[in-house]
Amino acid sequence: MDTKKFMRELKQRADAQIKDQVRELIESQYCPVHGRFASLNQIHGHLSNDATLEFDFDTCCEELQAKVRQGLDGQAQ
Ligand SMILES: [Zn+2]
Repeated sequence: MDTKKFMRELKQRADAQIKDQVRELIESQYCPVHGRFASLNQIHGHLSNDATLEFDFDTCCEELQAKVRQGLDGQAQ
């Protein structure tokens, strides 16, 4: 059995899972003023490498942006 390959795949899967969760979290944030959801453009970074992820997302206004950030902070704690 190739342990290195196995570990790499395991980490990739964990990465993908967390990214999916983050995507859901961001795209479920709704702005009642403009009737729009936030949308995720891209996630930068890899959990398995440096444990830092940056999220590039679009929102219709600053209020929704703050809401998304709150949601992400809540997830991190
Ligand atoms: Zn808005």
